[in-house]
Amino acid sequence: MIPAAFDYHRPGTLDEALKLLKQHGEDAKVLSGGMSLLPMLKLRLGSFAHLVDINRIPGLDYIKEEKGTLKIGAMTRQATLERSDLIKSKYPILADAVPLIADPLVRNRGTIGGNVANGDPGNDQPAIMIALGATYVVQGGKERTVAANQFYKGLYDTALARNEILTEIRIPTPPAKSGGAYTKLKRKTGDFAVAAAAVQVTLGKNGAIESARIALTNAGLTPVEAVDAAKYLTGKMPDDKTIMEAAKMAAAKSSPSADRKGSVEYKKEMARVLTARALKKAVQRAGAN
Ligand code: FAD
Repeated sequence: MIPAAFDYHRPGTLDEALKLLKQHGEDAKVLSGGMSLLPMLKLRLGSFAHLVDINRIPGLDYIKEEKGTLKIGAMTRQATLERSDLIKSKYPILADAVPLIADPLVRNRGTIGGNVANGDPGNDQPAIMIALGATYVVQGGKERTVAANQFYKGLYDTALARNEILTEIRIPTPPAKSGGAYTKLKRKTGDFAVAAAAVQVTLGKNGAIESARIALTNAGLTPVEAVDAAKYLTGKMPDDKTIMEAAKMAAAKSSPSADRKGSVEYKKEMARVLTARALKKAVQRAGAN
């Protein structure tokens, strides 16, 4: 289908983009990779009189570590993340996930900023950002930061105001003896998750879990943080019994809906199995560094 008519704006600076968003208010929408927004417009699930394309704004595409923080510019493409040696060596949870997002064509255009700002519970990176304890830098009027686990309010509803642009993702560099993993079940390449689990853990000197964060994808209207399961793990040795119990607690937090991908019961069970697998992998990786 053909989208409803819109005016296309291509600002060259962030200030110009923010001005356009302010000027057009509720009628304007940010366009980054377009991999979610354009299908939505074509299907007429939404329509906006003004699209503000932020692809030509310089300085929004980078991956760097600074003073104990990994900083990723919002316009960084998934394909760039996929090829990054820094991500592969130090952030395995992201390295696990990126090749499982959509397909190479979508990853060439799709941006990490668009993935986390979209507010679709099927997007993979929001749960990962919650597991990593990330914060999002938001510009519009004045700069503010929002913790990933405070950002998602409902289906396609986030803490972003219409006149704001998410410019950077900040992830605290995990301490020694940390490990993360992302496990995802999908029916075929290019499909969204039936269920997926993001886990980040840090082990103490005795091998017990010092801290943990767990979040689930496609397990409700927003990414689901399994706070109780993470609390349960803290201070415990990561043996099979403990991991299974935590996975059960995480799955109990999920509230997926039935669709062509499966029933509620099936999706909850998959959330349990995938959380257990992610926990085992994360603990193994933490023990190895
Ligand atoms: P856009 O489509 O341009 O924008 C998406 C939304 O975010 C819009 O509302 C836009 O206004 C807003 N937005 C974008 N950037 C910003 C910003 N910097 N500041 C404020 N608002 C912003 N995703 C997955 O995670 N997992 C999958 O398995 C998966 N499979 C897919 C399969 C197919 C066939 C397709 C077409 C897409 C799939 N996606 C999947 C979605 C894909 O990852 C998108 O690229 C992503 O959801 C949005 O990123 P984008 O840069 O394309 O954003």
